[in-house]
Amino acid sequence: MGKRLLILGPPGAGKGTQAVVLCRAIGVPHVSTGEMLRDHVGRGTELGARAKAIMESGDLVPDDIVIAMVRERLGAADAACGFLLDGFPRTRAQAEALDGVLGDAGLDAVIVVEVPEDEIVERMLLRGRSDDTEDTVRTRLAVYREQTAPLISLYTERGVVRPVDGLGSVEDVLARIVGVLAS
Ligand code: ADP
Repeated sequence: MGKRLLILGPPGAGKGTQAVVLCRAIGVPHVSTGEMLRDHVGRGTELGARAKAIMESGDLVPDDIVIAMVRERLGAADAACGFLLDGFPRTRAQAEALDGVLGDAGLDAVIVVEVPEDEIVERMLLRGRSDDTEDTVRTRLAVYREQTAPLISLYTERGVVRPVDGLGSVEDVLARIVGVLAS
């Protein structure tokens, strides 16, 4: 199976953790827009300055910013044989832009990590990242439900969605993901 992959799921589903271990296991670069944005904030770039307050509120950074970042990243040599997108696309406009970047071949698989909402809120409050207060957690879940979850139907129509149960240890979930990618 090809290795142009996307991992999707609500914030707090453990996507980021799984993305890191999965990339190591299958040898593709991890393309995380959340990490790229946090890196800009940390380095104090102009883009970081624009994104910081938006991220702290739990809202989405404007599409044009993340689309430009991803377009550039996927053009790098190490992404030519595959990649794992994490945190992008999050909106219909981002999904359309990604289609334009990838062309006809498109994504090979979309891993959807499924975790019940009560569990998510609990996990995110335990994680204690600076944008993980109870209010932002609620905002991010609502943004996910309204803007990102609809992308699952879009990719389901294309026959590339692979749902995975996100409950259990990191190793358990990784094994399930590797399993669905192999089948
Ligand atoms: P999580 O998976 O926990 O939601 P991320 O690290 O993916 O966290 O993203 C953190 C924040 O960065 C988001 O809440 C949002 O403000 C911003 N962000 C990341 N990716 C995108 C994107 N594709 N479009 C818009 N904003 C984004």
